[in-house]
Formats: sequence, C-alpha cells, structure tokens
Amino acid sequence: MAHIHSIRNILEIKDENIQIENKTTEENHNNSKSIIFYGTLTYTPSGCTNCGVINESHADIVKNGTKMSIIKLGQFNFKPVLLKLKKQRFLCKHCRSTFSAQTSLVDRNCFISNPLKALIVMELVEEQSMTLIAKHLNVSVSTVLRQLIKAGEGLRPAKNYLPIHLGFDEFKSVKQVSGAMSFIFIDNINHEVIDIVENRQQRYLMDYFMRFSYEARKRVQTVTIDMYSPYIGVINDCFPNAKIIIDRFHIVQHLNRCLNQMRIKTMNKLRNVQPRDYRKLKKQWKLVLKNTSDLNFNNFFTHRLYDGMVSEYTMANYLIELSPQLRDTYELVNNLKSAIRHHQFDRFKQLLQDTKKRTYPRKVRTVLQTLEKYLDPIEESLIYTLSNGPIEGINNKIKNIKRSGYGYRNFRNLRCRALIVFSLVKRKNESKELYYELDKAG
Ligand SMILES: [Zn+2]
Repeated sequence: MAHIHSIRNILEIKDENIQIENKTTEENHNNSKSIIFYGTLTYTPSGCTNCGVINESHADIVKNGTKMSIIKLGQFNFKPVLLKLKKQRFLCKHCRSTFSAQTSLVDRNCFISNPLKALIVMELVEEQSMTLIAKHLNVSVSTVLRQLIKAGEGLRPAKNYLPIHLGFDEFKSVKQVSGAMSFIFIDNINHEVIDIVENRQQRYLMDYFMRFSYEARKRVQTVTIDMYSPYIGVINDCFPNAKIIIDRFHIVQHLNRCLNQMRIKTMNKLRNVQPRDYRKLKKQWKLVLKNTSDLNFNNFFTHRLYDGMVSEYTMANYLIELSPQLRDTYELVNNLKSAIRHHQFDRFKQLLQDTKKRTYPRKVRTVLQTLEKYLDPIEESLIYTLSNGPIEGINNKIKNIKRSGYGYRNFRNLRCRALIVFSLVKRKNESKELYYELDKAG
C-alpha cells in the first residue's frame, strides 16, 4: 500500500524484513503520551548465530514464536514515536538454541533506533548541553553520553597520517586535573581539530606524537605555536621536516608586555614625587602601548590631565619622556613591532643586534634574549601567513562547551565532544596564499 511506503520513509525504516501495520495508537509509555506504530520482523535466517550451521534446506532452523520489543524512533510534536516490533524467534534444530531476528533498524539488545542515534550525534555538534539534547529527543542523558563516547572515540586520528601544516595550542583542562593545561592541535589549513591531549608537558606530548608513524610525522612541514618553549623540543624531536612558526600576535604581545612593565616601573617611581605624572601614566596605559604610527598627531583638544591643547602624539611623547629608560624601551619596542608588521626580518634582526651596544633594564634584556633565541621561528612567522588565530577561535568555543556542558569533569567526555564539534563537520579547504612577500628593503 502506498501510504505504508510513506510511513516507512518518514520513520526511516529501511529493513524490508520489517512489515509495518496500517495502524497507530497513542498510549502512555514511561509517563509520556507516545505515538505507537506496529510492525513485525521476520525472515528465513541463513544460518544459526549460535552453532553456525548453514540453513540450506530451510529445515535446520524453524520459527519459534515472537518476542515484542519497543523501539524508540524519535519524536513528533514533542511526543515520543515508538515502534512495537514483534521480533521472530528462531530455534536451531542442530544445537537446540533459540535466537531473535536481527535488523539494521536497531542493534541487538538495544531499544534506541539507529537513525535516532545518528540524530543524537548531529545534535552533539551544536553548542548545547547533553541534558537538553536528552530532553529534546526524549532519551536519557546516559544514552546521549553513550553516543558521545562512541562517536568521539571513532574520531581518534589514524596513526599513519598527519596534515602538512599544524597548529598547537593549550587550554585549561577539566576540573579533574586541577590547574593543568590540556593540549590541542589542528590542521592549520582547513582548521579541523586533529586531537586533544590531556597533558601538554613535553615528555607526555613526545610520547603521544611518537605513536604516529615516521611517514606521518615526516609529512609535517610547519607547526605554528605560541611562545611556550617545550613545544620546540617536541617539534624538533618528532617532526624531522617541520619549520616552527611563532604566532606573530604572540611576539607583539610579548613586546607589549615588556613595554607595559617599564611603564609601571616608571609610574611607581613617580608616585610620591610627581603625583600628576603618576596619574597620567596610570590612566593612559593604552596610549603608551599604541603603535607610534597609529597615534593621531593633528587632532588637538583639551585634556583634564594636561595644560593647554594636546594630541595623542604629544601626550604619548610626554609620557615616555618621563624616564629615559621608558623612552628607550618604547622606541625599541615600536621599531621591533614595525619590523614585524612590515615583514622586515633583516631589520628585526639588525635591531636586536644593535641592542647589544646599549644598556637596557634587566627585564627588557630578558625579553631581548628570548627573541634572540626564537629568531628562526620568528623569521618563519614573517614568511608564512599561518597564525594561531584559528586554533584560538576553537579554544574559545571549547570554553563555551565546557560552560554549557554536563559531564565535563571527565576529560574523555570533553575530548569526544570537541572532536565531534570540530571534526565531524568537514570544513571546506580554503585556498589561501601561504607566504608573505618578505620586505628586504627595510
Ligand atoms: Zn545452532
């Protein structure tokens, strides 16, 4: 009958061995009003599931009654849709064992249909709690959790493949490992999450990456990182062909932090002797950190902290001239930032070289030494357009997942959820220019 065919389509019952009856009822099931469909599952088995005898003459295995099972198919208008399925029981004359008919609609000993399980996984892709998914789909939270683990574990990366361009980052882990940072790495071209590792410590990560085949590790050409130095050892040991790229934003951040420390140092010195200047340095921290080239120099106005007319430029100048050390650091940091912005590696290197002829405060010197140490990765960061922007976007979303989530006291659950959210939905490969043109002129 034609409408039976439509019902089968709507209910996603593809197994031809299931006959659907032309009848539905509404009844209470587990305290909720449910829509019930009726069906029968039967066929001639090809063999015995117990002893393996082939049912050649169709006489070795005989029908032996039925068993009713109630299967959750989904829901309609907030009512659960159930299928009361009469499953054929069989008796094997060979070994005298009995068994039930099997169907692709539902796994053995399970009452949640496979299409409904697939739907649960699709819902797990969205940013919502598992409790909410359970409520919407009329299943228990533990059912959602089981699908989470099953789908998530299935997304573990194969050990014989790694993408060519990787991005590394870390995020604050679940409560279970208090204070610890977990590690995440992505394909830095299509921004797919490859995996999440519980611990970001060097020996832990080395052990993790060494489990990938040599061929897979050899494929990796670049790894983009922040300034967390243990990664460098991991990359050098595990990826023989990889260039290390330090995210440009982190280099600039590092420089700004150094400049800000000098501002605070100057400010505290002036606290009792020049209270007005102390206030200026305290209030106008943003002005000190702003790139010199971005300061407005022709818009003059009055400002309550200053006498007469001022511009951003004149105020910034006033502030840095409050201490020669602050001024020297300001100039150096601005030159270095400008070299990064314009992809002038030779200039960057020369600026670092020139600092050796001058004296700088100890804190500034430490920063300069760090930059010197990372000179190669910094050069790569001026050559490649790759950055840690995408992975940081993903990390922000992980924070949301943790916030919305039930059950993330457990690292495995969080990892599974993140893999489902970020790698189940395949992203399009963006064709993006991989290299900058290096500015040799500077
Ligand atoms: Zn048998």
